[in-house]
Order: sequence, then structure tokens, then C-alpha cells
Amino acid sequence: CLPEASFLAFEGGEEEFLRQAALCRRYGAAAVVMAFDEKGQAATIEDKVAIAERAYTLLTRQLDFPPEDIIFDLNILTVATGMEEHDDYAVNFIEAVRQVKERCPGVRTSGGVSNISFSFRGNNVVREAMHSAFLYHAVRAGLDMGIVNAGMLEVYEQIDKELLEYVEDVLLNRRPDATDRLIDYAEQFKGVKKEKTAVDQKWREENVASRLSHALVNGITEFIEADTEEARAVATRPLEVIEGPLMDGMKVVGELFGAGKMFLPQVVKSARVMKKAVAYLLPYLEAEKAKSPQKEAGRVLMATVKGDVHDIGKNIVGVVLSCNGYIVEDMGVMVPADQILQKAVEFGADMVGLSGLITPSLDEMVHVAKEMDRRGMDLPLLIGGATTSKAHTAVKIAPHYSHPVLHVLDASRAVTVVRDLMDAERRKVYLSKVEEEQASLREAHEQRGTKKLLALNEARANATPIDWSHYTPPVPAFIGQRTLDPFPLKDLVDYIDWSPFFHAWEMRGRYPAILEDTVVGAKAKELFADAQAHLRSMIDGEKLTARAVYGFFPAASRGDDILIYKDDARSEVLKTLPTLRQQILKPSGQHHHALADYVAPEDSGLKDYVGFFAVTTGHGCDEWAATFEADHDDYGSIMTKALADRLAEAFAECLHQTARKEWQYGRDESLNNEDLIRERYRGIRPAPGYPACPDHTQKPMIWELLDVEAQTGIRLTESCGMWPAASVSGVYFSHPEAKYFSVGKLGNDQVEDYAQRKGQTVESARQWLAPWLNES
Ligand code: SAH
Repeated sequence: CLPEASFLAFEGGEEEFLRQAALCRRYGAAAVVMAFDEKGQAATIEDKVAIAERAYTLLTRQLDFPPEDIIFDLNILTVATGMEEHDDYAVNFIEAVRQVKERCPGVRTSGGVSNISFSFRGNNVVREAMHSAFLYHAVRAGLDMGIVNAGMLEVYEQIDKELLEYVEDVLLNRRPDATDRLIDYAEQFKGVKKEKTAVDQKWREENVASRLSHALVNGITEFIEADTEEARAVATRPLEVIEGPLMDGMKVVGELFGAGKMFLPQVVKSARVMKKAVAYLLPYLEAEKAKSPQKEAGRVLMATVKGDVHDIGKNIVGVVLSCNGYIVEDMGVMVPADQILQKAVEFGADMVGLSGLITPSLDEMVHVAKEMDRRGMDLPLLIGGATTSKAHTAVKIAPHYSHPVLHVLDASRAVTVVRDLMDAERRKVYLSKVEEEQASLREAHEQRGTKKLLALNEARANATPIDWSHYTPPVPAFIGQRTLDPFPLKDLVDYIDWSPFFHAWEMRGRYPAILEDTVVGAKAKELFADAQAHLRSMIDGEKLTARAVYGFFPAASRGDDILIYKDDARSEVLKTLPTLRQQILKPSGQHHHALADYVAPEDSGLKDYVGFFAVTTGHGCDEWAATFEADHDDYGSIMTKALADRLAEAFAECLHQTARKEWQYGRDESLNNEDLIRERYRGIRPAPGYPACPDHTQKPMIWELLDVEAQTGIRLTESCGMWPAASVSGVYFSHPEAKYFSVGKLGNDQVEDYAQRKGQTVESARQWLAPWLNES
């Protein structure tokens, strides 16, 4: 039984390659030559072609191998991984095929196709489209064969045209944001089946321990007090109920969650059941307390740092930890370092967890780490929140504290981290792993060094090319500010973008497709139904007050600044808004944007305008959330905050639509919610703190222009975070070419220039722009 083809590569050196090839030849087999050599797998066009040519020469010259019996497997590597270096993998393969066919006449080419789409595993619609589109282009370049799951191929012509465009953007690396766009777009295809849900009361017939477990796993509070009482009545001590059936039930919850079979909203619901049961037992426990103190798994102190008001993620972490038997003390939001550290001592914390969402919080976390060091503390410091990362923790925070500083990605990892820290043996293993990882992150960071940037004047010379000579700026219906107080909450519901709501609960996917997802669909539906009911009582009970202020002002650009005039006479400048310009190197034909580019220059003779806005739906939120907390209902509390956030974003969307109409150019728009979410309209509303304008200290200017605090009650914290948390503010630009972008790394030349234009010290500008500075 002879092989028809054998696999060869240079991995073992040239001699071994020739030995194996000679065997192939002897048995009359063809050879599949892998694009591997002593250096490893070939990823670039040059390497792939070089290996092929080398093999070709050896095989044909030394062994007289017939070219048609040589098949080159040129390595199909995965694209859309999020790593920029992988963006060219498909293009490289296709181009390598073309060149190899040219330079090695007579050979065949091959590759393992499904690898290309590996980053979309679980999403067959996208994978099939990727395979077909990739094959289509590769075959045109000369690909002869491929390893492919024939069941996972779509007919190229039948691929949905929109999907095809996203897919080909990725495969052909046609735009830098292609991966992000495809990932976003792909969400809707995840999963297709739905599960049935039926109300089943059969579990009520089981024994009390099973009923408690069932109630915990399914988050049912309806019978919890009666069941807890029944268990207590037969127990010798009330503590037994907790340590017995309740903890057993929670263990099941923990296991299911760990195995990815339960999702956060359910865990939080389980916690509510647990807390209610414990609350019921509390008076009995108090009476018992003196006799036997409860065993503790560990104490965790948590806080959102000074200047930051965001706490949904942190609250979820708190719930998950307390479900696992840890004693959690949550100090809430905007907590200064000294209070956190003092509390850590009083509370006897085993570790301290810091949370934050906005970029200035990163600096505040560094401050806390330094303080802990200065005070000679040795508790592990946990870092979490949207802008935090493993790399930032390793590079910027850990070096300031001589004890462990650990990044916790999300609530589902928190338990493992805390558990590992609380166990002497595991702690050692875990910490040495983290230390190693952090050291290599720091090394990688150092080696990466600084980015090569364009000088500011060069970047300016390559600004967004807008032809102002053929442009007439639209004129807003009024100049100055308007207040909406209160705005009817119910009018915002249709504007809600639900996808981020599921993300807040760590359920990935895009609404509405997520409701039909094979894995999370049923639970997503349940969460969504709960959200609808909660939203209803929020609106009917007038629990939140929506308030907004917005306005339009005559404006012109002067270089990278935007001048805001008092009135249309344009003689008095009210404010100057300095903007930041991109300096990263770009291929020719691309430009270096700054928001000022989107406003007509002062010498253009045009009368242009910009708008500003600040909206909130957060008044009343904390108070209403507190009523749930008082009832041991974290689920209700977190739900309240998550919905308030959604309503604030919906308000921003809704007000932007009104603004476009009042600004004339949006009068004839007819867009549905999906169109709005995808921003299929003219103009943008960049928000300070986001990538096009990362400087949070631009908010005070908006506050002054619109008198935001007096009009809406939204306050700025010392980090320029907004309180209430459910608030959004930003600037309106009307130009059709206005796009969101990221300013990226900033050169020292720009930081100095910007500080001067802003009337700020360079030191202060550097502090606020820290994450964007081009240095290690
Ligand atoms: N539908 C989403 C909208 C919020 S995210 C939701 O409900 O959550 C989109 C907003 O973020 C934009 O409207 C803008 O205000 C801000 N944004 C996004 N990218 C930005 C960028 N590059 N620079 C400045 N602001 C940006």
C-alpha cells in the first residue's frame, strides 16, 4: 500500500528533506511540500516563494522530480485575528500562489482552506462565505487544490452582497478597520436555533434541598422564604441551611457558570435568591452568632476610583464573588485612594479591587498602587474595568507596587483569580505565572519602543482634503442653547441600541440575533423580557428623569482650532476649541485628520456652525437602584443602571436626530433604529474622551458654553467624568465627510503646541493625554 503523496518540509534541514524526497520518488509518490523551513512557517510572500523555489530547484535538479508531482502547500493562515500582522495573510497566500506558479512551472499549489476563517469559529454563515470568496480569488491566481469541508462552502455568486463586501474587505485587506467591521456585522449570523421554554412546576414536588437548589440555579425567588423556613425548621442550627442546601445549590451555579453553561444575568439572579434566603435566616443567625462564627473564604474590598462613576461591571464582580462565599465590601464610586486603603485595613481585606471606566482612572490606579507601596502594604491589588488591560497593568501599574498587581478581565475570571490568591499553593503557581507574563509584556513593550510619527507640520500639510469652494454649510434653526427638562422617557425606548445591554451582562452577540443564538438565545430572551418589564415600571413609575441641553454656534476653523463665535456677526470669539491631529504614518493617499478639518476655515468666507450637547437619564437612578439593594436584589439594581445607560445613549441618538432636522440637512432623513445605530446619517457627534478627541478636559468648555450643570444637573468629577453615570455629551459636526477616527499616538511637538493653544501647562496636557503619548 504505497502513499500517493507524502508531506515534505525543510524543518529538519536540507539533507533530511532530500532523503525523504528520494523515498517519495522511489515509491512513485507525489510530494506535498509545506512552506516550512528551518526558521519555521512562512507567512510572507517572499518567504513562501523562496521556500518553494528552493524546494523546486532541489527536487527537479537533484532528484529529477517531475514538476507535476510537486504540490506546494503555501500555508493558509488565519485572518481577522485582531493582530495587524495577520491582516495580509490571505493576500500573501494568493500572491504567493501566483508567483510560485510563474516561477516553478508545472507545479501544483494547495492549502488548508478552513484555517482562513478560524477566528469566526461558531459562525458558519461567515466562515462559508469566507471560504468561498477566498477560494474564488485564490483559484483565479492559480490555486489547484485545497483541503476544504465541502459542506462548508457557499456558492460565491450566492453570497449575500453585503456580507461579501465585508468578507472581501478582510481577505483582500482593503481597509484597516475591515476586521472590526466584519466582526460587528457577523454577530447577526451567530446561531439560528431557538430553545423552548415552558413553565414547569414539577420541581415543587421534590424535597426541600432539591427545591432550594432548583430555585438557586433557576433564580426563582417566589418560594424561597417558605422553602428556607422549611429547611430551617428541620435543621439543628440555621447555619446548616446555608452551609448545606444553599451552598450546595450555589456550588452547582458556580460549576455551571465555570463550564459556560450559565451566564451572568442568571448568576446574578441566583445571588438574589441566595441573599433573600440569607436575609430570612439572619435573625436566627444573629441569635446563633456567638456560638460559631461562619467560615470565610476570603475578604475582598472593591471600589471605583476617584473621579469615576461607573460601577456596573464592578457590581457584577461583587455579586459573583459573594455567590462564591467571599465577603465583599463595596465602597461604591468616586472613592479617593486614602479612603480605600484605610478601609482595607479596617475591613481586614485579603485583597483590594479597583475599577474604572474612563482613561483618567488609569492614572488614579497608578496613584493607588504607589500609595500602597508607600504605606508598606502587601495586599494583592486587582485591576478591572473597560479601559484597563493586561498590558497597562503590567507596564504602568505593577512596577509601582512591590506586591502582586493583577488584571482581571471580567466577572467570569474574577472568581478564579480570587480563589487562586486565597490558596497558598495555588497562589504561588499563579503569581509566578503572572510575574513571568508581566515581565514579558514589559519587555515586549520596551522593544516595541516608540512609533515613528509625522512631524505636526507635515501632518497638518496632509489634512482632510475638503473642497470648501463648492460647499454651502447648512444653517441651524437657532443659535444658542435649548434645554429639555424633562424629556419623556417613553419617547426614548424606540431609540435603544440593545446590543451593548447584553454586553453589559457579558453576553456577547448582536441584538436581535442574540435572542435566537443556539447557546445563549434562551437566556438572552429571558434577560430581555426582564429588561422590558423593568423598563416599563421605570417609565410608568417615573423613576428616572431625562434632561438635556444642546445648542448651535457659529464657528470656523483656524488651523487645528475651532473658533466658537457668540453670534452670526462673528466678531466675538466665545471659546476656542483646540483639536488633536493624527500623526501616525499612513500609506500615501490617506490623510491626517483632526476634527477642526470638518469646519469651514475662517478665511473661506463661509458661515459654518457646530453644535454641542449633554444628555442624562441618570437622575433618580441611584435612588431607585438602592431600593433593590435594600431588598437584597442586585439583579434589579444592576438592571436599573444598565437600562439607565441604554436610555442615555438612546437620548443622545434621539437628540442628534432632532439636531440634524433643526440644522436643515437632516429634514428629509427617514431612518429606522437599525440605520441610526449604524450611523447611516450625515454628520457625527464625537464625545470627549473617545478616540477622535481623547482629552476629557474639553468637557468643561462644553459645560460653560451650554451651562450644562445648571440646565441638566450633570456634574463633572475631578477626572472630568460625568455624574450621573448615565450621561453623554459631545460635539455635533454637520459636514458630510465628517467621520469618526482615532487620533492615535501624539508627538511631543503636538502636545506642546496643543497645551499652548489650550492655555494649559505642558505637564498637565501630558498627564491628561498620557495614554496617547508616543513613549514607553
Ligand atoms: N448605539 C451606541 C452608541 C454609542 S457609541 C450605544 O447605544 O451604545 C457611539 C458614540 O460614541 C458616537 O456617537 C460618538 O459619540 C462616540 N464615538 C465613537 N467613536 C468615536 C471616536 N472615534 N471619537 C469620538 N467619539 C466617538
